Amino acid sequence: MNQPLKQHLIDPEICIRCYTCEMTCPIEGAIVHDANNVVIDADKCEFCMACIPVCPTGSIDEWRIVNTPYSLDDQFGWAELPEQEEILTGGGSDAATSLEALDDAMAALLADAHKGAGGKAKAPATASKPTINMYNLANPITAKVQGSYRLTAEGADTDVRHIILDFGGKPFPVLEGQSIGIIPPGTGADGKPHLPRLYSISSPRDGERPNYGNVSLTVKRHEQGVCSNYVCDLKMGDEVQVTGPFGSTFLMPDDPQARLLMICTGTGSAPFRAFTMRRQRTVGNKSGGMVMFFGARTPDSLPYFGPLGKIPDSLLKKHLVFSRIPGVPKSYVQDQLIVEEEAIADMLTDPNTYIYICGLRGMEEGVEKAFTNIAESIGTQWVALRDTMRSEGRYHVETY
Ligand code: FAD
Repeated sequence: MNQPLKQHLIDPEICIRCYTCEMTCPIEGAIVHDANNVVIDADKCEFCMACIPVCPTGSIDEWRIVNTPYSLDDQFGWAELPEQEEILTGGGSDAATSLEALDDAMAALLADAHKGAGGKAKAPATASKPTINMYNLANPITAKVQGSYRLTAEGADTDVRHIILDFGGKPFPVLEGQSIGIIPPGTGADGKPHLPRLYSISSPRDGERPNYGNVSLTVKRHEQGVCSNYVCDLKMGDEVQVTGPFGSTFLMPDDPQARLLMICTGTGSAPFRAFTMRRQRTVGNKSGGMVMFFGARTPDSLPYFGPLGKIPDSLLKKHLVFSRIPGVPKSYVQDQLIVEEEAIADMLTDPNTYIYICGLRGMEEGVEKAFTNIAESIGTQWVALRDTMRSEGRYHVETY
């Protein structure tokens, strides 16, 4: 039996037959029309999404999970889109239901990671439109490992690695701040396949290498962790099953003058590496500025410690904060926020400031307290300010 797959379709009831999608599609013959309908050839469509934004009606944004794709002739004959059919996989219809349930579980995981924002997160108004859920458990994409190296010093108590994945020219459109799912091979003690784990993309949208469409990840090895060990042990050329991209709110504003305040611990630095590289490649130092508070135990255990030092303050002002340097009082990101109270207060009062918090869930409480104190110092109530910022797409939390 065929594996279920996602088929891209056009709603014939809404389509106005302007043929813009057909003219925009970079793959010859992937979108065609007859006297009746404009249709998509499932054998040719590569999910590049070029047709989505140009469609004036949105009729192009239709998808069905199918065992056997609808043929061109099927689609030419339609007056309306068929309902989603019941999917039968090798495991029967329950398997399909459970695949969908697993994809829902990934969405729930992401929602849980964002709940520290205190309410429903919203993307910055100027953020680019993200592509999400292009590949799922029923239809993952295979990536090849292009590189893997350790980011923390040998002997440091944390093993964090930089992994580069290549999609072999297949479309995998991402934005800075999004995550992908990695499906570890094998089964758990219950005999069921392992669930995917989410990892933030640490490269910008045009690729780890500009215009190569590859992505990088920043992955910390967890003792006995299923997926982190699998990813950290991958070698060049290994193949990996990937789902996603995921996430439509933890995105950067597409406004070079926006001021970004980024607070992170450990692998929470991944999206901020992507944000920084995006600005480096597009606006350089001519931006509203980025400020980073990055907490780790020691410099040895801080991912990207070396490369970070080379980024000029005019692009990224860095506050590296360490909690375990022998003979030095412990300091955490929230402590350093208070040290920089005046600068932070200035950012809080600027309607063009965007705040991003990413990393260990344990950091949320201290950071909230620091913001409460700083807001009070300027006669403002933090929770009200935070809620306003969030509703304007300017306050983002992703902790796990
Ligand atoms: P699991 O096997 O799921 O185990 C979970 C935990 O239990 C681990 O800490 C493991 O050490 C512990 N454990 C398991 N078995 C045992 C045992 N027998 N004894 C003791 N302890 C045990 N992680 C990153 O590294 N980088 C990222 O950029 C990143 N981004 C994320 C983004 C989002 C939105 C979310 C939700 C999570 C993100 N994560 C990231 C976390 C990641 O998804 C995984 O949760 C993490 O890698 C651990 O997965 P695992 O399979 O290795 O651990």
